[in-house]
Amino acid sequence: TIVGAATFHPICFFESLHTKNMNNYMYTSINRRLADGRYGKSNNRLLCHHQFQVLLKNNIQDGLDLYNQSLQYIGINSGDIKFIDNNWKSLSIGAIGFGWEAWYNLTEITQITYFQKFADIEVTNVSMEFAYGIERLVSMINGKPINECLWDKDILYSDICYIRENELTSLYLKYKIRNTENFDKLYQLCEELIKDKLYYSAYEILLDIIYTFNILDASHEIGELEYKEFTDRTRILSNKIGNLFINSL
Ligand code: ATP
Repeated sequence: TIVGAATFHPICFFESLHTKNMNNYMYTSINRRLADGRYGKSNNRLLCHHQFQVLLKNNIQDGLDLYNQSLQYIGINSGDIKFIDNNWKSLSIGAIGFGWEAWYNLTEITQITYFQKFADIEVTNVSMEFAYGIERLVSMINGKPINECLWDKDILYSDICYIRENELTSLYLKYKIRNTENFDKLYQLCEELIKDKLYYSAYEILLDIIYTFNILDASHEIGELEYKEFTDRTRILSNKIGNLFINSL
């Protein structure tokens, strides 16, 4: 599944809406921030960056303490962190939350969010998200640019990620990709899957729709009206998928 942020990952979408399950989750996702491509030359802005995602449902009252402990664990003094109000929303999946950006050394390293809505549905068991930017943390902890940091034993980050970063920046910024034909087919497929009550598959296709749209957006092909029209349509799909899921519990 290709996502722009780990918050779109199926775990986050479905588990945030889950009315009974109180498990906590963590996972890593490779996010594609299409407008952030810098040909692999920027330390802080990568087109493909890794996000370590924690979704807490249990004990969210201890969430900020746990977050501070996680920083101490990787050698960052939580006293040096500056929290800046930053509420989060995604029009395309009808999600909102309130939270903060955590800044260290003049750089945002984590987004912290309490989710209030997904799929335009009020979340009953409020969950809390920590979205850690792995490259920024690795680079800070090692005190050098990410391309020069070890990403595994004997393997530099640049050995694995530089070519991808460099080429994908060209792909999305230099080559103009216009692919609107796909939209209607994908919408139709998503509707069919919803009718068949296949909420997980429908969500997978919804993510494809959103990603196809992100590509157009990154190529500056989308006007304000088209943007609204698009998010209105995806929100409806997201709402149907969310309701289908909740009714299946
Ligand atoms: P920004 O405002 O810097 O674009 P964001 O608030 O949109 O980031 P989130 O989606 O909340 O970012 O991502 C969580 C974390 O991932 C951020 O706190 C940051 O550390 C990191 N991050 C976000 N975008 C990038 C990127 N393009 N390259 C490297 N790390 C990133």
